[in-house]
Amino acid sequence: MTFNRVVGFAFADAAGARPDIACPNCGFQPWHGQQWVCAPDGCGGHFDTFETRAHCPHCEAQFAWTACPACHVASAHRAWYRTVGAN
Ligand SMILES: [Zn+2]
Ligand SMILES: [Zn+2]
Repeated sequence: MTFNRVVGFAFADAAGARPDIACPNCGFQPWHGQQWVCAPDGCGGHFDTFETRAHCPHCEAQFAWTACPACHVASAHRAWYRTVGAN
């Protein structure tokens, strides 16, 4: 199954920053263990979308878009990855 986007939300168990990943819109950097919700079309399960590369482990949904927990703008999942030295 393929869904349009995955919705992010803030979660309390911060466990380290990810300098290689940031919101293309506002620059927010999600941390390891931050949880996204498989929604609005998915199963509603929680998972760390940057651990699974936008793949829900609960229902096998693959997300092309990832919403930012900070600015709530959905960006292409791959646009969140900032490769050092690229561009
Ligand atoms: Zn953002
Ligand atoms: Zn799911």
